[in-house]
Amino acid sequence: MIIAENVHKWYGKFHVLQGVSLRVNRKEVVVLMGPSGSGKSTFIRTFNALEEYQQGRIEIDGITISHDLRNIEAIRREVGMVFQQFNLFPHLTVLQNITLAPIWVRRSPKIQAQESAMKLLERVGILEQAHKYPGQLSGGQQQRVAIARALAMQPKIMLFDEPTSALDPEMVREVLDVMRSLARDGMTMVVVTHEVGFAREVADRVILMDSGTLVESATPETFFSNPKEERTRKFLSQIL
Ligand code: ATP
Ligand code: MG
Repeated sequence: MIIAENVHKWYGKFHVLQGVSLRVNRKEVVVLMGPSGSGKSTFIRTFNALEEYQQGRIEIDGITISHDLRNIEAIRREVGMVFQQFNLFPHLTVLQNITLAPIWVRRSPKIQAQESAMKLLERVGILEQAHKYPGQLSGGQQQRVAIARALAMQPKIMLFDEPTSALDPEMVREVLDVMRSLARDGMTMVVVTHEVGFAREVADRVILMDSGTLVESATPETFFSNPKEERTRKFLSQIL
């Protein structure tokens, strides 16, 4: 589903991705952890062409990313993304936020886009909020709208970049529950998170990233209980 081979990226002289390779299979859930500044966001943003890279190759569901406009459109249709800050349009209702891209990008008829949006809102448990504006919702509800908005484009892959770290503790769970159910339904997911409970329960693999490289990749059991690398042990001692 995702093949990244020896990806390098520099910001000016700063070598932010230092030859990163990763394969994510269909229906696999990969959790990416690592210290602040290690390159996690930069790396996953290359998967939907939000970040360019200078060397290496990334293939998404058989399409190699090339950064010409048509290619970027094709890639973004395949890959949905949810950010730490929900990035909803404040002047549009929940329903309008979700139907915007299906109507304008996918050219879906409005009625059909709205019907699908209502189904998605039901799925993320906030059907009754459809006609409110983002500012009238809690953080957890806004993040569930952001997930529904990404799903409305029917992506084959979902990327999550610390989707719960801007939320009050009591709202973390409702968002993780939605992600858990997505995983159960077979969505291919790459999730940057420090939620150890989620990683243990949902991830097929947990990966530690540090200084622009992937340090260790293992099943959750091995990663959290018996990691091979000293660097992983040190990281875990800081978060557990
Ligand atoms: P965090 O856990 O804090 O989100 P991260 O692992 O996601 O960290 P990145 O956001 O990918 O890390 O950043 C990796 C490094 O690249 C950091 O040192 C950051 O300062 C640097 N960086 C990120 N974006 C830019 C940019 N646009 N220009 C220059 N340097 C950048
Ligand atoms: Mg980040």
